[in-house]
Amino acid sequence: MSGILRLLDPLISIFIPSSCIFCGQELPASRRVVCRTCYKALPRLSSQLLKILQDEIEPCHFSRLFIPFEFSERIQNLIHLIKYRNFLTLGEYFACSISQLIQNPIYNIITGVPLNPVRRRERGYNQSEVIAKHLAFILDLPFDPHLLERVRNTVSQTNLNREERKANVRDAFFCTRDLTGQTVLIVDDVITTGSTLNECAKICKNSGAAQVDLAAIATPANILQHRLERENRFSDIL
Ligand SMILES: [Zn+2]
Repeated sequence: MSGILRLLDPLISIFIPSSCIFCGQELPASRRVVCRTCYKALPRLSSQLLKILQDEIEPCHFSRLFIPFEFSERIQNLIHLIKYRNFLTLGEYFACSISQLIQNPIYNIITGVPLNPVRRRERGYNQSEVIAKHLAFILDLPFDPHLLERVRNTVSQTNLNREERKANVRDAFFCTRDLTGQTVLIVDDVITTGSTLNECAKICKNSGAAQVDLAAIATPANILQHRLERENRFSDIL
């Protein structure tokens, strides 16, 4: 979307009644893209699956991980809208869902995983930063979009295995300030193996951070579910 259209987007929505992209129900003026009912029905990530994901990330450089949703087709649609179609209001919805998981928000800084600068320029914004900014606003805590920088480009993680993903993001980020004694929350959109977020946590720890927590909107649950079933099967036998 061009800059001028992006500026006009909120105005366009006033004149064109919008409806929920999933059920077609007309939305009130205060709501965008998805109705409350469809949003509430998005599949939630169970604490069991979250634990399996967390246990697999090693060496682990963070303390807590917050992920509200399973990566379903509907979540994919919504993330696509925030990523490529400029529906930044969704960032507020996602931030709200993440904030509900954080019982003790003690952060000195909330930031997003930085995008490759070329992609950031093309898109005009960084969706992870948008979510992090809304989250900081909701929690009433400091937001710093410039805490982390990408120091080298990485290839897309999509077709890489766990080890390749780790190698791909190794030393790809730089922390712009001293974090001695600070607590940091880093936000991304989707977490798969956790390599990117964990690498960002490592960089913050290397800069002195006392605690780093991570948050993302969703993670693919089918692989985790498969591992959980295997674990349960073997625990029955042994
Ligand atoms: Zn709906």
